[in-house]
Amino acid sequence: MQNEIVDVLVIGAGPSGSVAAAYLHKQGLKIKVVEKNSFPRFVIGESLIPRCMDHFEAVGLLPCLEAEKFEIKRGARFVNGKGEMCNFDFSEKYTDGWDWTWQVPRADFDKAMTDELQQWGVDIDFQKEVIAVDFTEDGASTTTIKDVDGNESTIQAKYIIDSSGWGRVLPRLLDLDAPSSIPKHATIFTHVKDIKRPEGREGTMITFDVVDTETWLWVIPFSNGDCSIGYVGPIDYLASFEGTPTEKLREMMKLSNYYFERFDGVDYKFEPRQIKNFSASVKQLYGKGYALTGNSAEFLDPVFSSGVTFATESAHLAAQLISKELKGESVNWETQYKDYIMYGVNVFSTYVKEWYTGNLQKIFFHPTINLGIKEQICAVLAGYVWDKSNPFVKNHDRLVKTVARVTEMEQEGTA
Ligand code: FAD
Repeated sequence: MQNEIVDVLVIGAGPSGSVAAAYLHKQGLKIKVVEKNSFPRFVIGESLIPRCMDHFEAVGLLPCLEAEKFEIKRGARFVNGKGEMCNFDFSEKYTDGWDWTWQVPRADFDKAMTDELQQWGVDIDFQKEVIAVDFTEDGASTTTIKDVDGNESTIQAKYIIDSSGWGRVLPRLLDLDAPSSIPKHATIFTHVKDIKRPEGREGTMITFDVVDTETWLWVIPFSNGDCSIGYVGPIDYLASFEGTPTEKLREMMKLSNYYFERFDGVDYKFEPRQIKNFSASVKQLYGKGYALTGNSAEFLDPVFSSGVTFATESAHLAAQLISKELKGESVNWETQYKDYIMYGVNVFSTYVKEWYTGNLQKIFFHPTINLGIKEQICAVLAGYVWDKSNPFVKNHDRLVKTVARVTEMEQEGTA
């Protein structure tokens, strides 16, 4: 059986794996990326938030992404069936940082990064699946991979970054899965030819259309003329719609006052896909000889589009720490990796949970939302969830509830 020896093995070539590989390659380490699929491949996760631009810039992947001319995303809009609307503009946020990002068909986005990495000379093996990993006591590993014809080979590595997304390779092999604290939801989504797209900004704005407290529609227009549409809601509610996935989604589109006309009768580019129970967590984010990044570690919920940004934040940090360690510096993985990543995850998970309690919707749709508060929340929605000078980061666990209560009292005329 063929055997290769590398410094770091990266499992998966999504945004997390690509950012990790880019950083490690630039550090002069011998790396290998193993990816189960051939690219381009479909994956959901199309609306980015500005914080991830810091990571693409830091590892040198920004120019290849800029060249793709993806739709620019400058904020996020929330609408509801009562005709209320709330616009967040990332240029009006509390924390300094990027004030724009992209809305991307992930097949093209992910391929742009792997093409670039291959041009740099990064060794990426597509259509190879990791099927087993053995660790020695000092953290060195031997990983078994299988190609599409069933041929197996091995890779010896000093470190593994598991960026396998929904594949969750190490959580499965090492029994690291843990229940998520986020309420369970389901989703149904597709891409459409956006032939009735209105002219100007209205046509290209990413929007969350709230049909009731726990059910919402995403609309993510792409620069290629297509648009991603999808519902998220309680599992039983989505299951109550009958028929084929296309029939279900067409029926659900009637729930949206704002978007029904635009997407009525347009062709779906593929039979809508359905997923449920997608929130995921792990018992530990690292161990001797490995780090988990991106969805392989934690996934909260599609609302607020944090997935890719956590994937790149964790990948960039894990790659930096591994590089330090392999160069002989000491690293405290508990404080420098786990505590840091979990701080951001916990801040964001408050916002996800408070979305589904309806508290954030009360704040967003309040006609006279305080501008200072809006800027602080906007920084969170842009992914700047490690800025402890922002009260909506530092006091996330109580401030959202308090402001929602005050908003409620104002509406009742008791404040
Ligand atoms: P991925 O992008 O999933 O990449 C992992 C790669 O690993 C894949 O290419 C896979 O083929 C490969 N792999 C898997 N198993 C193996 C194996 N055994 N061997 C080798 N390779 C393997 N996030 C956002 O930021 N914005 C959004 O708008 C958004 N919307 C979402 C909507 C829904 C309904 C859901 C469920 C999620 C959404 N997300 C969103 C989350 C987003 O999909 C993920 O957070 C993001 O793709 C994670 O990136 P990643 O690099 O960790 O994993």
